[in-house]
Amino acid sequence: MKPEIKLHDKTFVPFIPYEKVCEAIDTLAEKINADYKDTTEPPVILCILNGSIMFTGELMKRLDFDCELVSMKVSSYDGIESTGKIRQVMGLTGSLRGKKVIITEDIVDTGNTIDALVSIARSEGAADVRICSMLLKPDVYKKTIPIDYVAMSIPNRFIVGFGLDYNELGRNYKDIYVLKSE
Ligand code: 5GP
Ligand code: MG
Repeated sequence: MKPEIKLHDKTFVPFIPYEKVCEAIDTLAEKINADYKDTTEPPVILCILNGSIMFTGELMKRLDFDCELVSMKVSSYDGIESTGKIRQVMGLTGSLRGKKVIITEDIVDTGNTIDALVSIARSEGAADVRICSMLLKPDVYKKTIPIDYVAMSIPNRFIVGFGLDYNELGRNYKDIYVLKSE
């Protein structure tokens, strides 16, 4: 890991190394594999672009049941703050009708995004909707819908790397970095 990275006007320092992220995803994948081992109809993995792209890839490599992949793009963050308003930036790349859907997210913060995503999936005819997030900020999460699968919980800090960005930069780092406190 780099001792620090600079993105736009902010500095970030090491937080979670890639190896730790992978270990957490190993454990998570085992749980999902066990839950879906007897499923006959292939479930749909719904990748929420752009933040979840690396997590979804890393997770899918470990899934050992047949599954489809659909993506969509939403946006709620501006800089380092959640705006609370979810914008659908790109529609679904495939059908969810009658499917068991596993929504894969990078991080659940207030839960506004996941709340909106579950509504969209249901209105698109999904037969079952589960939420799978790489990260959860339990101190900030204020919704009641259960997050079915979480790889790691973190404190309320702003992070980048492993798909997560600060104004579109930082997604390419494989390790996770946290905003340096001033
Ligand atoms: P929520 O709607 O739950 O408040 O926010 C979820 C979305 O906000 C995530 O999908 C992610 O795009 C973004 N987000 C939340 N926390 C962070 C963070 O610490 N770092 C980054 N880069 N994005 C975050
Ligand atoms: Mg996101």
